Amino acid sequence: MAQSLSPERNLKVAIIGGGPAGLAAAIALSKRPFVDWKLYEKKPEISEIGNGISIQPNTWRMLEKLGASRHLRNDDFFRPLDGHFLQHRNGRTGTLEAQTDYRKQNTPPHQRHCRAHRAKLQQALLRHVNQSRIRVGRKLVDVVQLDSGRLRIRFDDSFEDEVDLLVGADGIRSVVRQFAFPSHNIGYTGSTCYRTLVRTSVPKRSTDYSCDGHQGQVSSHIQE
Ligand SMILES: Cc1cc2nc3c(=O)[nH]c(=O)nc-3n(C[C@H](O)[C@H](O)[C@H](O)COP(=O)(O)OP(=O)(O)OC[C@H]3O[C@@H](n4cnc5c(N)ncnc54)[C@H](O)[C@@H]3O)c2cc1C
Repeated sequence: MAQSLSPERNLKVAIIGGGPAGLAAAIALSKRPFVDWKLYEKKPEISEIGNGISIQPNTWRMLEKLGASRHLRNDDFFRPLDGHFLQHRNGRTGTLEAQTDYRKQNTPPHQRHCRAHRAKLQQALLRHVNQSRIRVGRKLVDVVQLDSGRLRIRFDDSFEDEVDLLVGADGIRSVVRQFAFPSHNIGYTGSTCYRTLVRTSVPKRSTDYSCDGHQGQVSSHIQE
């Protein structure tokens, strides 16, 4: 959602949401001198209470481009030494049915799939963001397109602002999406995903996870 600008005026941008997408957008927009951006997050701080997250090769490439990858240390993520990145197991017996192997892919070793705690990813991105431009404790509740083409955004504390561009990074129940695509509905797909993190010292059969000596954590999906 953007409108045309006169060349002498900065582009005023509001990013809604301080998750990985919002922080990455903030870093990218910071590289543009003509952009005056602010990031609004409804929680009282930029935090990640979630669990594990897979970082895929395309995400590594983007983290490197943004410069945030330098804040991820080797022990912030987990890459199985035997090269697998996904295992399909029988949920009752634990028998390994199939697994994927990243060594068969043409990906540089430092960009290979890995698993990390979300907070590590979040912190790596946050360290690269100008935090004076972040406003926490502000939940977007309304968006109105003005005759001028700008957008008026209103928050739950009645704060209002007008912007040229609105970046919706406010997650699955996005208020921005409701405004941009009012007829779009989200619905249950029929799949349920359980997620957990276990310390790498926990699995007894270390060959399953190749985690010997690793201080990080393994995160796993079990799908039904
Ligand atoms: C079980 C599970 C496992 C997953 N595993 C992976 C994985 O391995 N790899 C992967 O890439 N993705 C995974 N995903 C998807 C993952 O959650 C998303 O890729 C990622 O969190 C999206 O980031 P985001 O910044 O777009 O949204 P979010 O992380 O949801 O962040 C949205 C932010 O916006 C804020 N916000 C929401 N509404 C408002 C509002 N009205 N005003 C202001 N702020 C607001 C929220 O507080 C939040 O901080 C998984 C999802 C689930 C449920």
